[in-house]
Amino acid sequence: MNVTFRVFRFSPGVDKEPHFDTYSVPLKESMTVLEGLLYILDNLDPTLSFRFACREGVCGSCAMFINGSYKLACQTQIGELKANKIEVQPLPNFPLVKDLVVDLSAFYEKIEKVLPYLTAKNDVVEKEQLQSPVERKRIDEVIDCILCAACQSACPQGWTGKDFLGPAVLIKSYRFIADSRDRAGDERLKLVSGEDGVWRCHSAFNCVEACPKHINQTAAIGSLKRKAVVRKLLFWKR
Ligand code: SF4
Repeated sequence: MNVTFRVFRFSPGVDKEPHFDTYSVPLKESMTVLEGLLYILDNLDPTLSFRFACREGVCGSCAMFINGSYKLACQTQIGELKANKIEVQPLPNFPLVKDLVVDLSAFYEKIEKVLPYLTAKNDVVEKEQLQSPVERKRIDEVIDCILCAACQSACPQGWTGKDFLGPAVLIKSYRFIADSRDRAGDERLKLVSGEDGVWRCHSAFNCVEACPKHINQTAAIGSLKRKAVVRKLLFWKR
């Protein structure tokens, strides 16, 4: 049995317009969308471009728009889509590089803006910084983010405001603010409380729906908003 793949194609400098190409792929048991794309690359069309690396839902490279939903191609079995045709498109709302590859440079630059590293409470860390189970629980969910950028692509605030930090960047900040071992919470809150930070989030929940790791970004951003208000009340002169 074969399954039809309808794949978005655009090669700058070669194609005048984006278009879809159709491929017939022999279906194997438990075959994933990524395996289907690899079959096309190896057997039908070596010019097809897409990203992948770990093949186990950890690297975040193969986030795509598959049959109208945000998914990791490596974690999506063709059978579970219950469709005769698999339509694969690049993550919407990012500049396109080629075919299914988008330019994530602006996304990574935004992550750098929010200090994406732990600032330990002591300048000299001589031994392991322990956390209680309760303290660890606070970051349990957000620490699972693999920076696949699906939520960033799905956020309507990002469609109109290109400088909006976006859900993935905001929860990266939250991940350290909520971490009991970090001491830079005040500086972090200042960075996400500006015009392009938390207040642009209107809780549309698109990010929650898009996330392959089932992270509730909207709840984390809500917590950042409350912390930002408290910070403002306590340090109103800054
Ligand atoms: Fe991807 Fe979810 Fe992280 Fe957003 S929060 S970048 S959708 S893993």
